[in-house]
Amino acid sequence: MKRILCKPSVLVLVIAALILMMMPATALARPNGNHNWSPWTEVFAPSCEVDGEESRHCYSCGQDRRTGQWNTVETQAIPAIGHAWGEWGGTEPTCEDDGYRERLCGNNEAHLDHEVLPALGHLWGEWVVTKEPTVDEKGERVRVCDRDETHIEFDEIDKLEPEEEEEEEAEKKKEPVSPVTPKTGDATKLMGAFASVFVALSFVTTGFLARRKKNKS
Ligand SMILES: [Zn+2]
Ligand SMILES: [Zn+2]
Ligand SMILES: [Zn+2]
Repeated sequence: MKRILCKPSVLVLVIAALILMMMPATALARPNGNHNWSPWTEVFAPSCEVDGEESRHCYSCGQDRRTGQWNTVETQAIPAIGHAWGEWGGTEPTCEDDGYRERLCGNNEAHLDHEVLPALGHLWGEWVVTKEPTVDEKGERVRVCDRDETHIEFDEIDKLEPEEEEEEEAEKKKEPVSPVTPKTGDATKLMGAFASVFVALSFVTTGFLARRKKNKS
């Protein structure tokens, strides 16, 4: 019985020894850094603007028996995914009021892209004089915005200096008017007035004389 039992036990030992010799051969044959990696797994997800992280561990380097931590772990960044902006909305700026535009992120509604669009300012056309100034009254001029016809600006024009009007009148006088007859006309009017006064006086005196004659007789 002893002999029979011995033979298989020797065989087992030989096989076990061979396995033990093979095992370190395969393990030690790996060059340093040639690990047996797990697939990458996400540690935390990337957001629109912040990178995420993923890790993998080496099966060959094994785990710590007490903590369960893998002995060789590698991590790398998962690039930020960037915003998924929707369509722009908002209001256009006008001459005097700012506008704005904004859009929402499809990945996260808390992400709002908001821009102020500065007021454009008026685009004034040429001044048009609506009332010419005189020496006595101010004039007025008006201009209209090319962006919006309801934007109208009024402005006063200063009164003319008296000299300016005199000059204008002088220019008018230079224009040929009727010949210099008014003087003779005035003379004849004067003569007529004198004549009528003379006639009236003569009537009064003759009447007075007539009455005196009647009183005497
Ligand atoms: Zn390893
Ligand atoms: Zn986003
Ligand atoms: Zn305007």
